[in-house]
Amino acid sequence: MARQTADVAIIGGGVHGCSVAWHLAKEGLKVVLFERDYLSSGGSGRSAAGIRQQFGTEVNCRLALYNLEKFPVLQEELEYEADLEYDPSGYLWIAYSESQLEQLRKNVALQNSLGINSKILTPEEIKEVAPGLNTEGMLGASWNEKDGHINPHTLTFAYADAAKRLGAVIQTQTLVTGIEVKENKVTGIKTTKGDWDVGSIVCAAGPWSVEVAKWVGLDVPIVPERHQILITEPIERMKHPMTLCLDDGSYFKQCPNGTFMLGWGNPNEKKDTSFESSWEFLLEVSRRVLAKMPCLSEVRVVRQWTGPYDITPDQQAIVGATPVEGFYLDCGWSGHGLQFAPSIGRIMSEIVMGQEPFIDVSVFRFTRFEEGELFFEPACI
Ligand SMILES: Cc1cc2nc3c(=O)[nH]c(=O)nc-3n(C[C@H](O)[C@H](O)[C@H](O)COP(=O)(O)OP(=O)(O)OC[C@H]3O[C@@H](n4cnc5c(N)ncnc54)[C@H](O)[C@@H]3O)c2cc1C
Repeated sequence: MARQTADVAIIGGGVHGCSVAWHLAKEGLKVVLFERDYLSSGGSGRSAAGIRQQFGTEVNCRLALYNLEKFPVLQEELEYEADLEYDPSGYLWIAYSESQLEQLRKNVALQNSLGINSKILTPEEIKEVAPGLNTEGMLGASWNEKDGHINPHTLTFAYADAAKRLGAVIQTQTLVTGIEVKENKVTGIKTTKGDWDVGSIVCAAGPWSVEVAKWVGLDVPIVPERHQILITEPIERMKHPMTLCLDDGSYFKQCPNGTFMLGWGNPNEKKDTSFESSWEFLLEVSRRVLAKMPCLSEVRVVRQWTGPYDITPDQQAIVGATPVEGFYLDCGWSGHGLQFAPSIGRIMSEIVMGQEPFIDVSVFRFTRFEEGELFFEPACI
């Protein structure tokens, strides 16, 4: 098969790969994206679809401000027909101990200093924004009414379709099997459907980035961690925002179609990328969430799924250039990457084109691990 050529190859058809593809294609670059399965088949399509500005580090707050500015206008900007289901129905982080509340106060002070209008709520005020909650044991919460929900599938497809219209090649069912490097510079990419000469490669392969980076001799410190989600039948829309309970990490929300989504990170869950789901999760998440939201007790479960977090040692992403010329990383998003697609897609395209990123993300550099410069995000799920 004759070799084809592109300026940039992207590995991974999740929301990040597709956003990077669109941003680069918009700048006139010849882009090819390879996804081994279908678009959004990895972490993106298995996420809880939560979007928020409630972070505890300045860089994540600044990026989140941009993301939340973009979500309401993206459907139009990407000229996508289907609904992205942007739903700013709010987001609660609920504290059950003084130390949790203290951390939320610090996060809110930082957010307010950057122009994000989050606030601390008392248990009585929590009841006003989420009347179905049993507030027993809750000391307070942080709250932002503009945070909420976006559909991860349509968001990913919208970026991919818009990239295609600009000439990008989006190749699904195509496994990348290797990377060609000469004199420490990327020159080509090998796939099950032919090899390409390329100038640069962006690895947006989620937890599978570990394997990809090994092909160019890099050791990316990502550990996969399975997380499961349960979906109920749809019920009449009630006032209920995304709710994260810091006592046990359970979370739940009503989606725009009326279904409830329940999640919980089991600390003993397998550390792998398999998509199998368990009965144990169904029982545990139901038990935990029903104690907090008793009105859901008669609602039937219709499905569940499992997806991988790509966890780094500080639960922050890895974004930007690497010691291998032309090889870039956009991975390690742990449990919060979906919502960063707008800002990071733009930033990755700026970095690949040799421009100054519009927000400084050097704290996410790959080399921080060997430099011992870990950079923790206190607002992680
Ligand atoms: C249960 C759960 C809940 C979550 N909730 C939220 C949330 O509420 N909000 C939020 O912002 N984030 C959330 N996340 C995290 C979010 O889903 C991820 O951070 C984000 O989707 C990562 O996107 P990505 O494009 O980097 O990776 P992915 O979507 O994982 O995409 C990587 C793609 O690379 C492909 N691939 C891998 N290797 C190869 C190869 N060799 N060749 C070709 N293709 C390859 C894979 O098939 C995959 O499709 C959640 C994640 C999970 C699992």
